[in-house]
Amino acid sequence: MSAAKKPTPKKAKKTAAPKKAASPRKPAAKKRAKKPAAPVPDTLARLKKAHPDAHCELDHEDAFQLLVATVLSAQSTDVGVNKATPGLFEKWPNAAALSQADVADVERSIATIGMFRQKSKRIVELSKLLVERHGGEVPDKLDDLVKLPGVGRKTANVVLGVWWGRPEGVVVDTHVQRIAQRLGWTKNDEPEKIEVDLMKQVPREDWDATSHVLIFHGRRICNAQRPGCTSCPVNDACPSAFHAENVGRKPPRVRD
Ligand code: SF4
Repeated sequence: MSAAKKPTPKKAKKTAAPKKAASPRKPAAKKRAKKPAAPVPDTLARLKKAHPDAHCELDHEDAFQLLVATVLSAQSTDVGVNKATPGLFEKWPNAAALSQADVADVERSIATIGMFRQKSKRIVELSKLLVERHGGEVPDKLDDLVKLPGVGRKTANVVLGVWWGRPEGVVVDTHVQRIAQRLGWTKNDEPEKIEVDLMKQVPREDWDATSHVLIFHGRRICNAQRPGCTSCPVNDACPSAFHAENVGRKPPRVRD
């Protein structure tokens, strides 16, 4: 029996692969509308207009009183300091007088202010150094000011800006820090870095005014917990407008 020939399978005809239907072109991903950051000097000018009365709220009659009041205001309110300083300056009106004061007497005079013991010691020591090194006068140079006890860059710039009109930086307190972050003027958290960012963007002649204006804006409108974006005069220029509650806030304290 002859073996039946295995039929060779017919080669399947090559059929042309169906052309891929041209996929409809994906629409370009929508870019998130980014609010253009308004130029800082423009927004600042509008804030200045909104708070024309912005100024240093520590009561003082001369550079010495301003310096002492600013040292006392660390972690205390201006209102609280203003209540204590009239009595203090009545007894010890200048550096020469305060340098001779008994620290315990000074403590009694400013006992309503937080950390009054530490601060009393500081302002007496500060007065002694003013007498020894500067003839009892307040120096007008940052380098000299920061060598005084209790005087850091921030306090020195308050005195240089408010009294001498020649600040060498921008004073960054808690209001300035929060509002600069909310307005998108800085992405930093440390006051020193925020100060550098502000100094780069704000014209030098506005360095002193900037902190007063932002402090007033922070107290009146852009509160830490309840920012009043609806009534804010620069809400069209603020990238945090209407969702600012958590921007520029200090993290909550964690209890041990
Ligand atoms: S719009 Fe709101 S978050 Fe922005 S500066 Fe004004 S109050 Fe503050």
